[in-house]
Amino acid sequence: MDQRSEEYTLPLSFWVREQRSKTICPNCYKLKSGLYPQAVDVFLSERPRQLSCDGVFHAGMGIIREDLLAVLSPHLKDFVLGRCFDESGALISEYRSIYCRNRIRLRAAPNAPNYSTYECNVCGLTAELSDSPYVLRKDLPDSEVFESSIACLFLSGDLAARFPWKQFGDLKPIVIPVLDAPLGSDADEADQSMRALHVPFGAEYLASIGQSRRAKESPANAAELIKKLNPHDAVLVCEIVGSNDRETEHEVPVRTILEAGAEPEELETLRNLLGEMPGTLSWEQLYAKHNGIGLFSPLNETEPAIVLLPVNCWLEEKGKMFGWFFEGVEAAFEGLPYGSDDVIPIAALCYSPDRWFLVTSGPNAGMVHFWGHEDSPMEETPFAESLEAFISRLTGENAPDYFGGLIRFKAAQARDPKPEWGTELRAVRYVVKQK
Ligand SMILES: [Zn+2]
Repeated sequence: MDQRSEEYTLPLSFWVREQRSKTICPNCYKLKSGLYPQAVDVFLSERPRQLSCDGVFHAGMGIIREDLLAVLSPHLKDFVLGRCFDESGALISEYRSIYCRNRIRLRAAPNAPNYSTYECNVCGLTAELSDSPYVLRKDLPDSEVFESSIACLFLSGDLAARFPWKQFGDLKPIVIPVLDAPLGSDADEADQSMRALHVPFGAEYLASIGQSRRAKESPANAAELIKKLNPHDAVLVCEIVGSNDRETEHEVPVRTILEAGAEPEELETLRNLLGEMPGTLSWEQLYAKHNGIGLFSPLNETEPAIVLLPVNCWLEEKGKMFGWFFEGVEAAFEGLPYGSDDVIPIAALCYSPDRWFLVTSGPNAGMVHFWGHEDSPMEETPFAESLEAFISRLTGENAPDYFGGLIRFKAAQARDPKPEWGTELRAVRYVVKQK
């Protein structure tokens, strides 16, 4: 399976953009329910690599080679076949796209290895992932070939026993138990007598196939990034707002607020949103440690000046940010190397609609851009080329000054000697004290 896990089929990103909302859920990239019996043609970014069948990443369906289709077609019930095209629009005649009307639900016991659950708040799809999935007999349609919600195909035990495995060397049977009652804390021990009847092929989950490719990236070291974000002793050096006196500076000691790590389903959402963008693994590792980070919060206060937004806020923040595009969303993106589907706000300057956003596909994929509602429209030039560069820039000495005086404090927040009561301070420099 290792060899196979390096290979999975990628659709063209413009096709995914076009299909999102139309046939694919915009949030979780699964095929929309109710689509049956509409056939879906898929545009692939490369020719499939001689696999008998495969999931197409972020397309919500699979592809199947004609010779395998010939073997299975007498058993395909409620499946819809479509066509595959390459980048130039040429038909890839040896493959068809495939999906099934009723997808089976893979379940997992909560104590199973690598157990996680996921629920899409847009299309309502729920999934349980683990290293030892099972299915409930009552969930199985009266059929010999099944498909899961992540576009893996499965055979009934009877069909698997007759299937010419030798003819399809890239497919290996992996047994999925079929149970009569769900496994769980309140399930009777007796329910756990598993009967291994059903055999999937294309046995890797789409999710884990995606992860194996991402694992080839060398991610930024999350611990190093957090150390940079959360220094032992840091101050913002401030000037008095409205004063011409550039000599007198006041120090405001600041701290970093670190939220708890993201839950598995939040990390799943992160992966779904960021997709195959370079650097996804770095973001995932950072958020696994802290799902939300507040920077430059005066001591004893809870409001930071800059927030790295928790994953569950990203889509909502996108709606808010787009709400500021008074000329319309299309106009705001005109001439840019990224479009409205390719951006996700990931950080905010508090008390301002200004946002940093990640570009998830196209030539700027993986880069962080800044948008300021007053005078910083979205641009081709990124604020930072990677997560690492983004953190470095936010924690650089002159960072506070970039933000046009938006980072402000009250006199009481300054270290002694405190400026006069009622004075407002404007951060101009960030200084990390060396121990
Ligand atoms: Zn969904």
